[in-house]
Amino acid sequence: MNYLVKLLILNLPYLLFLFKKETVEPVIIQQEKIRIIPTDYFDNPVHHSIQLAGTFCELRPNHFHTGIDIKSSAGVQGDPIYAVADGYISRISIKPDGYGNALYIDHPNGYTSVYGHLRNFSPELEQYVLQEQTLQQRFDVELYPRKNQFPINKGMVIANMGNTGSSNGAHLHFEIRDTKSENPLNPLLFGIKVDDSEAPGVSYFRLYGLNNDWDEFGARNVLVTKRNGIFVPRSGGDTLRLAAEIAGVGVNTRDGMQNNWNKNGVYKINLFVDDTLYYTVKMDSVSFFKTRMINSHLDYPEQKNKKNYVHKCFSQPGNTLPIIIHQNNRGVIPLNTQKTRKIIFEIYDFNLNKSVIQFFLKKDTIHLKIPPVAFNYLLKFDERNTIKNDNAIINFPKITFFKDLKFNYLSQSDMSSNIYSEVQQLGDLDIPVFGYYDLRIKNRNLPSQLRNKAFIASCDDQNRVINWGGEWQNNLYITDVNQGEWLYATPKAFGSFYITIDTIPPTVKPVIFGRDMRRTRKIVFTIGDDIRPGGTTTQLRYSTYIDDKWVLMRYDLKSRTITYDFPANFPAGEHTFKLEVYDPMNNVTTIKNTFLK
Ligand SMILES: [Zn+2]
Repeated sequence: MNYLVKLLILNLPYLLFLFKKETVEPVIIQQEKIRIIPTDYFDNPVHHSIQLAGTFCELRPNHFHTGIDIKSSAGVQGDPIYAVADGYISRISIKPDGYGNALYIDHPNGYTSVYGHLRNFSPELEQYVLQEQTLQQRFDVELYPRKNQFPINKGMVIANMGNTGSSNGAHLHFEIRDTKSENPLNPLLFGIKVDDSEAPGVSYFRLYGLNNDWDEFGARNVLVTKRNGIFVPRSGGDTLRLAAEIAGVGVNTRDGMQNNWNKNGVYKINLFVDDTLYYTVKMDSVSFFKTRMINSHLDYPEQKNKKNYVHKCFSQPGNTLPIIIHQNNRGVIPLNTQKTRKIIFEIYDFNLNKSVIQFFLKKDTIHLKIPPVAFNYLLKFDERNTIKNDNAIINFPKITFFKDLKFNYLSQSDMSSNIYSEVQQLGDLDIPVFGYYDLRIKNRNLPSQLRNKAFIASCDDQNRVINWGGEWQNNLYITDVNQGEWLYATPKAFGSFYITIDTIPPTVKPVIFGRDMRRTRKIVFTIGDDIRPGGTTTQLRYSTYIDDKWVLMRYDLKSRTITYDFPANFPAGEHTFKLEVYDPMNNVTTIKNTFLK
């Protein structure tokens, strides 16, 4: 067997390990596994040379990219997608967003391959899916076929490339996961070859002043230029000064490939301080549970407000991402006025093309002016925190934040006509939140007939109202605050929260629909709502009936369209059409009409 094995340590940054390079048996040390990645087991899922539009663990809003994005051969949909190894279809997922149409194949070696944004499945699978959708009378379905239902051989065409779900252009989102834990691994570790001999590009690095509480201050970007093959500060010389006793550094970098305009995420970053390896991130594996920890790894305000991605090479105490495989002192760098620190970043793509940034860092002799942080609550990141008063009860589970938080909380009256509680001002939008927390807000003056239209709202950066949902609870078990009626939701962002109502039905507009449908092959509507679903709140739901029989309409969230395809054998004559669209508060818009075919 040609076992060019690669040894990879997962979630195990600090353990010592022993192995022989050609070992095939997994080595167990301290209950953890050193994984042996087979590099000749999986074929490519496409038969053209692979160009990437996205890499593994590339930084995205609120998540790491958990696969690779493979571009189409000619920029259009339809390339055949091949099963990468023997196995069986373990899951089929259809969604208006996310992965769109997706297939999961379980393989006997303990891995699952995942194929997303597909235009269509193979005819046998298409038929099965339509049957299940008709049975459940809904478009979005999660199907888990039996083990022997759809056996798959390596190289079988299972689908065609598409653009369904959250996708902007024809491509295949391809993942390899550990079947048991569902943790995604970098697919390139399995021997998929990518033609890339260009080293990553760097536009700037970023310096942070830090204190012992992990407050960041005086952060600034330093633009770079290439001199003698090395990136150095563009102006002002190689020695930089920072008015802080502790420094952190980060870098904005993207990797290019020849014949490909896409700039993708890098594979590995090493930070050296005074020629000692100080901090390493390496994109081998991540878990879905920890993916939102990205908001501690990257510079959150830079990403949210400027759409710039900075890999911070220091880790707040709540950040336990497995991509951090080495760290001294959590990456923070002590400074003093006497000694100049030599800082080097080495940045690699998967093919180990390398870029280097070098500069020197020194503590500024000017007097430190650390701005005091105003706050009225100190929330411990590794403890459960509760804020409780007559108007709200807020519970933050452990690790809702990545460091102890100097938090500002205020309960305020707002007499606007559509606000039915005090407004709960929690921190601000620039503070990242790891997971859901519990928020209960007391009903102030909501008429009882509107109870089922009420939800907990906040506003996003663009001032759109977000619906975080809401469940009414009577104050049965909370004895030390006033009795009352409470609306309960689980947001995962900060901002100003209040109880409001939605009585406005969704908008439904015909795009292709009319009295005479004899020359058209489909019916298309756009559907939309003025309120954004947040957290666990559902998207719009809808049902369509032709001649009083439920029919399938495909939902594409990015274009907000729902589409019915007339089958070839659709009978000629007059037909009835009914479409009902519901928002999360069950406000409904109904379209009823007849048409000719
Ligand atoms: Zn993708």
